[in-house]
Formats: sequence, structure tokens, C-alpha cells
Amino acid sequence: MNQLIPDVTSNATARQPDSMTNAITGSLHWSVAQIEVLLDLPFSDLIHRAQLVHRQHHDANAVQLSTLISVKTGGCPEDCGYCPQAARYHTGVEDQDMLSLTEVIATAEAAKAQGASRFCMGAAWRGPKQRDIDKVAEMISAVKALGLETCATLGMLKSGQAEQLRQAGLDYYNHNLDTAPEFYGEIITTRDYQDRLDTLEQVRATGMHVCCGGIVGMGESRHARAGLIAQLANLDPYPESVPINHLVQVAGTPLHGTEALDPLEFVRTIAAARITMPKAMVRLSAGRQEMSEAIQALCFLAGANSIFYGDKLLTTGNPEAQRDDALFKKLGLHSL
Ligand code: SF4
Repeated sequence: MNQLIPDVTSNATARQPDSMTNAITGSLHWSVAQIEVLLDLPFSDLIHRAQLVHRQHHDANAVQLSTLISVKTGGCPEDCGYCPQAARYHTGVEDQDMLSLTEVIATAEAAKAQGASRFCMGAAWRGPKQRDIDKVAEMISAVKALGLETCATLGMLKSGQAEQLRQAGLDYYNHNLDTAPEFYGEIITTRDYQDRLDTLEQVRATGMHVCCGGIVGMGESRHARAGLIAQLANLDPYPESVPINHLVQVAGTPLHGTEALDPLEFVRTIAAARITMPKAMVRLSAGRQEMSEAIQALCFLAGANSIFYGDKLLTTGNPEAQRDDALFKKLGLHSL
């Protein structure tokens, strides 16, 4: 066992010289260097460690299915370099006003009938206005009444907004850190890292679950990938849900044409997320449509246990439900 890496598969974590444990939550503090050591492990050793952690905390053959819909598309004033919904990039995404409550309910009912257990609603805003929050709160209550877990991703929240969403029945708020702090400025300039951390803190303060992850394959270094995982793992407590996205390159966005990431490097990032956030649901998110079945299987082996299910993410494609059903059958996976 490498001395730099806390042994998360035993009860010996507190004795590790290079790790600190939070006295209240019991979660470990991970340095970027420790996560780099993990990412540098021989592939089989890394996957083995991830499997040990995964099996200690989860049903190794169960995968949670979430359906994601865009309740308001395009026209966003932010400049996230990967995003086809930013108004300033010409990507062919058509702006769409907020969906009606009836449309959202119909989509949620269909998602539930297909086997989804969580329903995520996304809107392309810098942050919601009060009238937006009122409408989304109605949607949340209606989706919750169908017996689905609810998640929303609406951008930065102002004081009081997280509480209103929680009271409407929101289980999870998604707000991604995207990447490591030192690489962040290469991707987004219209808001800073601290803005993101502030929104996450507001969400946590209400007692809601946090869904927070990032995107890899944006031209970042392995050191930056380790930095992202360290940021996520050191949130205290770490997020209950951790989406690891692979950049989907969309023509018209600044990141279109970025050198492709080695798929095994993506698998390594999933494994590092699993090892450092043992109890979290690690979600294999955007980019799955471009991944072979073999790479997806390796991601599940590395500890991914949640996917987006359905034929569309916010604006980019996702493997159709039937293809996922066939893959699950091949791998002996079942839905949670
Ligand atoms: S990622 Fe979100 S905040 Fe950034 S441009 Fe796209 S919709 Fe706007």
C-alpha cells in the first residue's frame, strides 16, 4: 500500500501520517498530491482499490437511473467554454422558453414509467430570478408527488432561494465545480470559483443533498484532474452525488477541437472519485454516447453507479434507453 494514500478500505485511516480526518464527519482530507499518486497507480491496482471501496459501500451491480430535462434552454449570458447554451456561441441550439408545468409532469411520468428514480430539471441561467424560482418550485412539487427524487440545476442561488426550493420538495441541487481552481479561468470568466462554492454552501445550509462534479477532457492536465477530485472530496461533507462528465465537443464552442482525452484516463478519474468519496453516487454523465461499451463497463468497474437515462441530456445526445437496457443485461447490472 502506498504510504501517501490513505487506506480507505480499512479502519486504519486515522493512523495514516499524510491524511487528516474531520472529527465530526469522519471524512478524510485529501491532498492533490495524494490523488495524483492514485491516478499514477498501475491501472489494475487503481481499479482494484476502487472496487474494494465500491463493494464496501454499494451494491456492485446496481446503477441508479436519472432522467434529465431542460426546462429552459439556451440564451445563457455566461461564457462556459464547453456549453452550447451560452448565448455568445453560435452552436445551433435554439432558445426555448420555460416548459409548462404540464409538459414537465408528462416527461416525468414517462421517465418514471421507463424506470428512472430521479428526475433532474436544468435551466440555462446565470441564476434564477424570483419568478423563475416560483415556477420551478411548482414543478418540483409536482414531480415529487409522482414519487420521484428531484434534482435541479439552475445556476447560482441567492440567499433564500435554496430554502424555497427545499421547501418545494427538492432533494438534490446540482452545481458543478467543473475543474480545478487553477484551470477554471481557462474555461469560464463570467463568474469565479468562489461563486460556485458559495452556492454549494447555501444549498448545504438548507440540509438539501448536494450534486456536484466536474468535466474532464477540456485540455486540463492530470494534475488539474487531481485538483478537481481534491476539491470535491474535501467539501465537508463531500457531495452525495458526483457527476463526472466527459467533455462533449460541440461545434461553435471554444472547446471544440480540444485534443481528445485517452478514454482510460477518464476511467482513472472515475476510480479516483470512487476511492476518495466512498459513499457518493458517482455518476457517469455527459459523454457516454461517444464511449464504447467496453469503456462504460470499465467505468462501472471503477465505481460509477449512476447514469443519465433517456435519449437526451440538456442539449446533447445520450444513448437511448434500449441501448442501455441491452448493456445492463450484458453486464448483469440492475437499476436501483
Ligand atoms: S453551463 Fe450553465 S451557466 Fe454555463 S453557459 Fe451553459 S447554461 Fe450557462
